[in-house]
Amino acid sequence: MAFAYDDQNIFAKILRGEIPNDTVLETDHSLAFRDIHPQTPDHVLVIPKGPYATYDHFALEASDAEIVDFTRTVGRIAEMLGAQPSTGGGGFRMISNAGEDAIQEVPHMHVHVLAGRPLGRILQPA
Ligand code: AMP
Repeated sequence: MAFAYDDQNIFAKILRGEIPNDTVLETDHSLAFRDIHPQTPDHVLVIPKGPYATYDHFALEASDAEIVDFTRTVGRIAEMLGAQPSTGGGGFRMISNAGEDAIQEVPHMHVHVLAGRPLGRILQPA
């Protein structure tokens, strides 16, 4: 499978330091920052530093080190937000939009971590 990646997307520019971001956590392979238009009291985007367009691109082509780092970063964000159910937090939801049907706006793989209020059911009618 040949995946394409456009390095002019806004998250690529954030990773190059060309535009600012509200960083929550940075690791060797991942960056977590607050969404500019938060949908919940806590709305953090977690992105890999590597050039992956969609979740499937990342899952199929990233190195084990990148995937472990990314997964741990999501866990650290849940911890930092106080959202972990295991410690009395209210919980959280992860969403990764990929492609047209999911209305992916930024073509750099990202996971939304949403927390801070009850989130309702996973999908509303289209
Ligand atoms: P998606 O539709 O999954 O591609 O979501 C893209 C997300 O990126 C949206 O929730 C936007 O609010 C967010 N976003 C766009 N530009 C920025 C930015 N410069 N800093 C932080 N979040 C952004």
